[in-house]
Amino acid sequence: MAIELDKVYQSDKYEDEIYQSWEQGGFFNPDKQSLSDSAESYTIILPPPNITDKLHLGHAAMLAIEDLFIRFHRMNGYRTLWLPGTDHAAIATQTAVEKKLKKEQGVSRHELGRDAFLTEVNSFVAVTQSTIIGQMKKMGASLDWSRLAFTLDDDRQAAVREMFCQMYEAGLMYRGERVVNWCPRCASTLADDEVEHKEQKAMLYTFYYSKDCPIAISTTRPETKLGDVAIAVNPSDERYKQYVNKDFVVDFCGVELKLKVIADRNVEAEFGTGALGVTPAHSMVDWQMAEAHGLAVIKVINESAQIHQGFGDHSGLSTLEAREKIVSQLTAAGLMIKAEEIDNKLSVCYRCDTAIEPLPSKQWFVAVDKATERLAGKSLKQAAAEVARLGEIKFMPERFTKRYLDWMDNLRDWCVSRQIWFGHRLPVWYKGEEVFVGRTAPAGEGWLQDSDTLDTWFSSGMWTFSTLGWPAAFANGQKSGDLLNFHPTQVLETGYEIITLWVSRMIMMSLFALGEAPFNKVYLHGMILDQHGKKMSKSKGNGIDPLDMIKLYGTDAVRLSLLTGTTAGNDSRISEDRIATERNFVNKFWNIARYISSSPNFNFLVADSDINYSQLTLADEWILNKLNILITSTTEQIKAYNFSVAGEALKEFTWNDLADWYLEATKFSRGSETDKVLSFVLRTILKLWHPFIPFVTEAIWRELSAKADLIITAWPVATSHNFAQAANFELIKELIVAIRTARSENTIEPAKKLDVIICKNSNIWLNEQVSLIKSLRTGIGELTITDNDNLPADAIVITAAGLTIYLLGAIDKDKEKNRLSKEQEQLLKQISGLEARLASEEFRSKAPADLVAKQNDQLSAAKDQLAKNQAALAKL
Ligand SMILES: [Zn+2]
Repeated sequence: MAIELDKVYQSDKYEDEIYQSWEQGGFFNPDKQSLSDSAESYTIILPPPNITDKLHLGHAAMLAIEDLFIRFHRMNGYRTLWLPGTDHAAIATQTAVEKKLKKEQGVSRHELGRDAFLTEVNSFVAVTQSTIIGQMKKMGASLDWSRLAFTLDDDRQAAVREMFCQMYEAGLMYRGERVVNWCPRCASTLADDEVEHKEQKAMLYTFYYSKDCPIAISTTRPETKLGDVAIAVNPSDERYKQYVNKDFVVDFCGVELKLKVIADRNVEAEFGTGALGVTPAHSMVDWQMAEAHGLAVIKVINESAQIHQGFGDHSGLSTLEAREKIVSQLTAAGLMIKAEEIDNKLSVCYRCDTAIEPLPSKQWFVAVDKATERLAGKSLKQAAAEVARLGEIKFMPERFTKRYLDWMDNLRDWCVSRQIWFGHRLPVWYKGEEVFVGRTAPAGEGWLQDSDTLDTWFSSGMWTFSTLGWPAAFANGQKSGDLLNFHPTQVLETGYEIITLWVSRMIMMSLFALGEAPFNKVYLHGMILDQHGKKMSKSKGNGIDPLDMIKLYGTDAVRLSLLTGTTAGNDSRISEDRIATERNFVNKFWNIARYISSSPNFNFLVADSDINYSQLTLADEWILNKLNILITSTTEQIKAYNFSVAGEALKEFTWNDLADWYLEATKFSRGSETDKVLSFVLRTILKLWHPFIPFVTEAIWRELSAKADLIITAWPVATSHNFAQAANFELIKELIVAIRTARSENTIEPAKKLDVIICKNSNIWLNEQVSLIKSLRTGIGELTITDNDNLPADAIVITAAGLTIYLLGAIDKDKEKNRLSKEQEQLLKQISGLEARLASEEFRSKAPADLVAKQNDQLSAAKDQLAKNQAALAKL
């Protein structure tokens, strides 16, 4: 029975309704699917978008890729869980709310106070969180919303406190003074990888501390020299050997410094003067040197990037003011040797671009180098490197394994405390010198909780297991519930730029908490760039808002543009034109379904087994064979994470094989099974396409009144049937392509009919395909299929699929005679010229041998051409 689909696919008519029905059907929730007990699980925990975010193309790509994996595995009978959540993004969110408060109410967080400020943050979070969740749904993401998590909700808070305490109890969490990266604007420490490096010009000053010190040093930051405690030189540097271990007491711009000369292999003798002023309080390298040499630490700069009290008239100045003052004092005193401009890397905060001040501060650290029984005597760092080295975790693309391992090798203790209010508050209480670390506040009076919060990556590092019921689901070291069913997860799919910030933390924390890796595979997607290969940004105005695109072109078009033309780890380019092109494909797909379902004999519920294979036409066999190959390749490519290759092959099949060839062929040659084949092919490609373009496929599926929902329909399986005649249709296709090509190369007008002779050799069956060959836009008048290979005179001769084809009547005899005569004239002229030159004694003696040879070649080529020309003329 014919079914009439709308003329054009209207995405807005279907998308929201379909999404709601999937959600209400419980299809996203593995607990509500009827699965066999032995069904393997397939889990992805969604990398939680920041609650401050609005959906951008990077998220859209992540959602499209993960949804594809999930839908594919769901249709393949896996116990499929894709768990959604959002990240509280401590610093980013706090900064956003601070800006909002300043703008709307003119108050700072300090004026408001901690509790009132956090109330503001929480109401901000409630709004932004529902926005981003709504946007994820627009992308068609089949996430199990019943398990929605937030990195700062009650369950995650309890999990974070537990983790902190367990690490403390294992001796891996400690409080210590360290030089940390301090952002004076955010008033917080930053992890090493939250610091960005900006190329800039800077002044390098070379000077003596005072007249009493014979060693000159170089620095870009003279103001920090107020805290110098030593001068370091390379032990092999002859210039300074006499001074090593000597002490100098100097007056440095009005401040007394006690400087010990130390020998340290890390000093480069070639840089500057070869001597280094050691400032333990304000340089990571110097801090380590001070620890190694037992030097004092003198703090010069405070948390607001000002000079501390006790440094004479420098006290209270900003670092820049102090720098200027010191430079002018040194210059006036004749101590400045030179000031030169150099290229320098400035460390800045990744959130706000403010220059970082390295400062010593009491902070909480995770010890990454300390061996622990929990990891069978290995350190966090060793254990996390080992799983990648042994291939227990595989990175895609593989080259990122090295990046991960290099980073792991250089990892230092992780400073996890942050001086901001929004986030997981440290489960640490102080009373005088006493420190208490615990899951709940200690009993008794006078305990004050640490006001710091944890680095946001501490909670997101626990994301694969804190979302699955840890710690409750891990009593006595035994997994239960969701943790048992879904951990370790199968794949982490994320952007390659957070492999160090996030992926590495997840691996360390899961190994520590559960003794197992959080996932088996890490699929890293590239960045989405504009059509010119530039990063998209609001300020450049080259950004594309996926929600605008969804409104204009539909979700499927946006998904398809993000899923094809992309490979793991490589950036890809997206433009609105690209999305519009994919929308055209989605429409084409709809039209194919519309055409097939308009047949009076249309029966959508036809199964593979309903088709009588002995009654198939050549074209039927050919398309079923192609479909069989497509099922196998799509399945294998998606399993291998090559979804883009799978998408391209599906497109090739749908657009070329199905629409351009099979549908055309069925217009002229229909067999008793053709209607069934058409329905079967349509059903099958709806399934194969579903993970890529879920809405249009589900919409067609429902319109064609299938009983079940496509989202939970079983993935197709290739048949073992041998379609022996498929090759014959392929041969016809080659003939037709060759005839079309010959017509276009000879600029034959489309309307002009040509008679054609095909010398069929042993292909007896070709005799029965005359009408099909003539029908498929070949412009054939009379078609003769013969064994007789006698050459017609004025034919265009082509060969294809091993057969010779003659196109007759393409050539105008008078015109052709004329053309050949002119050509003959030209050839004769060329030949006599070449012969004359080659006969010349002078030419042969002077010209280089290869030139003579070349002219000889030209002569024989011209003679060959002349012979052909004369034969052709004779025939005419
Ligand atoms: Zn900052």
